[in-house]
Amino acid sequence: MNHEQAKVILPIMLRELRLPAFLHFWEEVGHQSDHDGWGSACYLATLCETEIQTRNTRRMARKLKESGLNPGKSLSTFDFGQVPMINKTHILALATGDVWIKGGGNILIFGPSGVGKTHLAHGIGIQLIEHGMRVMVTRTTELVQKLQSAKQTLTLPAMLRRLDKYDCLILDDIGYARRDTHETDVLFELISERYERKSMIVTCNQSFGEWDSIFQDKAMAVAAIDRLVYNSTILQINADSYRKASALKKMEATKRTAG
Ligand code: ADP
Ligand code: MG
Repeated sequence: MNHEQAKVILPIMLRELRLPAFLHFWEEVGHQSDHDGWGSACYLATLCETEIQTRNTRRMARKLKESGLNPGKSLSTFDFGQVPMINKTHILALATGDVWIKGGGNILIFGPSGVGKTHLAHGIGIQLIEHGMRVMVTRTTELVQKLQSAKQTLTLPAMLRRLDKYDCLILDDIGYARRDTHETDVLFELISERYERKSMIVTCNQSFGEWDSIFQDKAMAVAAIDRLVYNSTILQINADSYRKASALKKMEATKRTAG
């Protein structure tokens, strides 16, 4: 094969081998390599590195999309200065997932509305994905409805098994809606199923003392708390609503520009 023939056939082979970064960069990197006299090993290594990076970025984007996490709610956009009771170093360590995820532990985030519980949970979730873990976020109400329909069609065990592929499940607003007994039962089943094995991050507006209203029956509430608290980190955010504070700031800025 001569050089001209190689140039024609190379893109076809790179496509067949599914090497999109090679396909995109082989010529450009080749010019640079020729110009700077890199040698063949260095040329090939540069293309391989680019291919690996491209794959990692694509895999990360796919996992992030599948997770339902909001990329805008990352830890880098979370203002820790607003919540002095939350230690940034501690959160960054948790977000690597090292110890607690392997041990099937949980993170429970408590606090009133608007203080950043959801944002913090998403931020940790995004980092966990960057560390190679699989994460899914869902409003608890939505997941409970899905679990309940699965139970009605006798597919609850299969659905719980499917959720096992997630190293961490984020249940946002566990205490949000009043539930009937069926809903409470499936939520409890989920918690029991993952207990000591698979992690969860749970956000909640109500303190444990008010969990009777989430589970209706006191004994079940105690059992659920017991399982969730096992090997858990509890984060309590006592702060003014960030939402309210930024709305007030905006209003004042508008007033100033209007006046
Ligand atoms: P909660 O889940 O506690 O009700 P959210 O996480 O939904 O509160 O926060 C409400 C809004 O305020 C969101 O837009 C969130 O991004 C923002 N927010 C809250 N706390 C912070 C913070 N410390 N830094 C940056 N944005 C914040
Ligand atoms: Mg929230």
